[in-house]
Amino acid sequence: MDMLELKLGYACNNNCVFCLNKEKRYYKKFPVKFLKNKINISAQQGCERLILSGGEPLISLHLFDLISFAKSRGYKKLEIHTNGRMLSYEDFVKKLLTFSPIGFLVSFHFPTPLLYMKYSQVDGFDQTINGIKKLVKYRCGFTVNTVLMKPNLPYLKEIVDLLRNLKAKSIQYTFIDGHNILPEYKKFVPRYSQVVKILEKIIKQNPDFQIKIRDIPTCILKKQLINHLAPIHFSERINLTIGKRFFTSEGIREMQSVYPNCEGCVYRSNCFGIKKAYFQIYGSDELKPVKRMWKE
Ligand code: SF4
Repeated sequence: MDMLELKLGYACNNNCVFCLNKEKRYYKKFPVKFLKNKINISAQQGCERLILSGGEPLISLHLFDLISFAKSRGYKKLEIHTNGRMLSYEDFVKKLLTFSPIGFLVSFHFPTPLLYMKYSQVDGFDQTINGIKKLVKYRCGFTVNTVLMKPNLPYLKEIVDLLRNLKAKSIQYTFIDGHNILPEYKKFVPRYSQVVKILEKIIKQNPDFQIKIRDIPTCILKKQLINHLAPIHFSERINLTIGKRFFTSEGIREMQSVYPNCEGCVYRSNCFGIKKAYFQIYGSDELKPVKRMWKE
């Protein structure tokens, strides 16, 4: 194992309606002793890369204590998955940068304050934008993560334009999970094929912008977009999740995914398949097993 993803708890200063962890938010923070123990054990096993996520990891009162501890245990690379709001505080960013190398994945899903407010249920737009500006100002490595969902499909171009104006250089599109919004599934979760058409356009219009795509099966991305597929981490990743249980990415994949008509597909061993909920609601007619590898 070379990478540990550690959730510090599910407390968050946003309240997104599509949040993957919304039913766990009452479990605000995990015990520091437990987190340090995990950091320590993984370090002893040779782990050098630490991802801190949540919830919102940057609001944890133990953030710097945990980062210092990880550094003292030999972690060489740190990555933080954040909504970016805390990064609007300059001194806070400067303090984080004392732990460089450090990278950020900043969630940003809507291009206006009103839309941000509507779907994240807080007035956080300006803070996230200012957070991104600080990362640019201090030349921090970061990527923006935009969850692809029906409500933001009409705004994807606007989001990229805005990010380009801010001098961001890369974006990761993550297809919405949807298992936490089953009663409203069709309101939030688009068909893969609908999304892919929009992404093709955006990629064509922004050849110099780094664009990666997660959680859309390779066979649906097709040859045209395969170069944009984000790398998949299978066995090395461990998530601390609710109830102090650990799952490898492989285990999570087995729990959440199905491979309905993937027999004989050359990408089968390197594919997350489709989520069970997607299969139950939309079926699998979009999946077409690939018989010969496409050139990447
Ligand atoms: S394994 Fe299944 S879902 Fe994945 S690319 Fe192949 S056919 Fe598509």
